[in-house]
Amino acid sequence: MVRRVASSEALQVRFWGTRGSTCASGPQFVEFGSHTPCVEVRCGERMFILDAGTGLSALGMEIGPSAPDKIDILFSHLHLDHISGLPFFKPALLAKERVIRTYCGNLEGDSAMDALGRLFAPPLFPVRLGQLPARFEHHGFLAGEPLTFDDGTRIDTHLLNHPGGATGYRLSHGGRSVCYISDVEHSDPWPDPGLMEFVRDADLMIFDGMFSDAEYSYCRGWGHSTWQKGVELAQKAGVKALAIFHLYPGHDDAFLRQAEAEMQAVMPTAFMARERQHFTFEPADREAAAERHEPALAQATEG
Ligand SMILES: [Zn+2]
Ligand SMILES: [Zn+2]
Repeated sequence: MVRRVASSEALQVRFWGTRGSTCASGPQFVEFGSHTPCVEVRCGERMFILDAGTGLSALGMEIGPSAPDKIDILFSHLHLDHISGLPFFKPALLAKERVIRTYCGNLEGDSAMDALGRLFAPPLFPVRLGQLPARFEHHGFLAGEPLTFDDGTRIDTHLLNHPGGATGYRLSHGGRSVCYISDVEHSDPWPDPGLMEFVRDADLMIFDGMFSDAEYSYCRGWGHSTWQKGVELAQKAGVKALAIFHLYPGHDDAFLRQAEAEMQAVMPTAFMARERQHFTFEPADREAAAERHEPALAQATEG
């Protein structure tokens, strides 16, 4: 795989937390990581954060004082594994003028403010978000509505089948796109036509494949899907690469490597997401130009 420095116009994805439900820890969980959901997406210089699981604290340590003055966090939903990193996000703790905007799409238009205010308050937590140096702004919307930002960036959204609802996101930049589909339980029949349309032809789909088909009968109704259903959706929707995400904390590195090999026999561009894994998608026209000179260049460069 060719490694290059990303151009300032690239779409970039980095996984900071890939586990679902709760953290995993120990020597058997080193390769795929420990933290709960958090994914950084850069549309050129513009940063978006998908979910605020414990991976958000690792992201915050890394970017620290160099974090943008305005940070947008898009919640899939507010289950604990998707928000518990929020008060440990270093850029929110530094004494600097900074605005952190959250977006929540599954509360019938309500923002996350009340729910987060109930959790991050004594006696459950010693400090309220409103007491942190950064200023929080909470926005609510209805999953399915597009989000439009002050710089004109548009992000499409989709309601997912999960207890209490969850929001899927599609971020596009330079003719490339990444879809974040966590947490979701597959429907019967599958793929769901609306979801298939939403992720169609994406360069990368991040998908809740917490279980395998063999395990699913024990976990029906829990709101999660399987890596096999992810492959089915990706292939039918023309998705180019698939990252299986929201990994079950009981699946150790050996299990996930084995499942990944089985999955890649069906879809070679599918993989199990690894913490800190990074992908760069150059603008579509630039990629086409590069491919003329570097025929072996992969769709995405990993590094
Ligand atoms: Zn979850
Ligand atoms: Zn959930």
